[in-house]
Amino acid sequence: MAAPAHSYRMYIDGKWTDASSGATYALPNPATEESVGIVPDATREDMQRAIGAARKAFDEGPWPKSTPQERARVLNQIADGIERRKEKFREVLIAAHGVEYLTHQVQLEVPITLLRTYAELALRFEFEQLLPVQSVQGPMGPMVVSSMAYHQPVGVCGMIPTWNFPLFVSVQKLGPALATGCSMVFKPSPLGPLIDLLLAEVVEESDLPAGVYNVVCGESAELGIELTESPYVDKISFTGSVSTGKRVMEAASRTLKRVHLELGGKSAAIILDDYDLRAGAPGAASPAYFHAGQGCAMHTRVLVSRERHDELVENMSGFVKSFVKIGDPADPKTILGPVIRGERRESIERYIESGREQGADLVCGGGRPAELSKGYFLEPTIFANVKNDMKIAQEEIFGPVVSVIPFEDEDDAVRIANDSSYGLSGGILSNDTTRALAIAKRLRTGGVTINNANNLLYSPFGGFKESGIGREGGMWGLHEYSEVQAISWKA
Ligand code: NAD
Repeated sequence: MAAPAHSYRMYIDGKWTDASSGATYALPNPATEESVGIVPDATREDMQRAIGAARKAFDEGPWPKSTPQERARVLNQIADGIERRKEKFREVLIAAHGVEYLTHQVQLEVPITLLRTYAELALRFEFEQLLPVQSVQGPMGPMVVSSMAYHQPVGVCGMIPTWNFPLFVSVQKLGPALATGCSMVFKPSPLGPLIDLLLAEVVEESDLPAGVYNVVCGESAELGIELTESPYVDKISFTGSVSTGKRVMEAASRTLKRVHLELGGKSAAIILDDYDLRAGAPGAASPAYFHAGQGCAMHTRVLVSRERHDELVENMSGFVKSFVKIGDPADPKTILGPVIRGERRESIERYIESGREQGADLVCGGGRPAELSKGYFLEPTIFANVKNDMKIAQEEIFGPVVSVIPFEDEDDAVRIANDSSYGLSGGILSNDTTRALAIAKRLRTGGVTINNANNLLYSPFGGFKESGIGREGGMWGLHEYSEVQAISWKA
């Protein structure tokens, strides 16, 4: 018999609390469909209470006035706290999010290092920038004016992260917000709030004053709407789909609050003709198995010259067939785990069907693994000879599906890569770095990796076009959580 699911509580104003209605809901393990946790199903009133606590902590508490040294110390305490509870975080990532061992580096290790990086950036950020002294003609005669640009914390932040890389996404919001002195309310995804609740346990043990960090969880979209509409919230940082992002921006416009959107992607990797296809195949196929393709910046379109298309496809499918073991991510040998929910699997299956109907070649996968009767599993799926105007090349599938698209020449490759309403990431595989850099600068995407090199700690991260507004990561993250104020005085 399965162990009884653990019950969790929310964290508001430094206290653990149930929903005011007493309502709860159960979270399934996507690999076994058994319950892994019971969480409060909060009401709009609970959200208002959390916003009130964050507002009070910002307007009256010591945190916004703390020094960069104090903020760095708290950020490091939180990093230490996660480190101490790493095995608990790992357990929840596996059981509630279907996180495979192959992705533990980015799911668990990188976020800890990221928090330490934000601690370092808090110490290096120029909160006060002195500007050139000016001689101006005032009403009473000439005057010499000194001035500075001063970075205040932006205020109370409404954080709406998502479930696919839950610790990474939340830390990308928590880190810069604490580094600048903000207070905040996290509203995790209803599909996966446990990591944020574990994070609250770590925060509670740190020296962060009560009320600065709050977590409210529940199933209803009303919670996100309350946060977005509230006049007491200064900024929303949202990670999720384009359609919800647009609703967030519209609702936030009524109070003109700052809006930061990290949305979806349909990124392209371009394989240039000098690159070895055998070496390129594992990376090119990775959206078909890496965390079941549930990543915003994955290169789900693979662009290769028409002459080398069939050879690449053969290498990719050969690699996938020999490498990818499907099953419960609790088994360290598993490469491909489940997708997060049954409805999401059905949506992915509709995309696979549309690929078939529109004439793409299904090279491998496309169905549910016959040997797994429980859990939301799908086979790693590769489509070849895809045309860029097909639905599977234009829309974000968010499942283990990759499309290979042939190009005629370099200009054609750039044109296809940019022919998307998204603009999150891109990739180039080539031994010629000079040529790859020149192509990278022509891609209309927030990031480009050359030969899969990625700087997750210090780089700006965000999207062009409908992939988002604003940048997380590095110093750009700290700018996002600051309001710049001009202060001038007579020298
Ligand atoms: P989603 O849009 O379905 O939901 C996101 C969140 O919005 C949930 O917490 C939901 O409760 C909340 N919400 C729903 N309606 C709302 C409203 N009207 N106002 C405020 N909040 C509301 O997205 P999802 O399925 O959770 O996430 C998957 C998407 O996230 C994919 O498109 C993926 O590409 C994207 N993503 C982007 C990044 C990035 O950094 N760019 C990172 C990870 C995931």
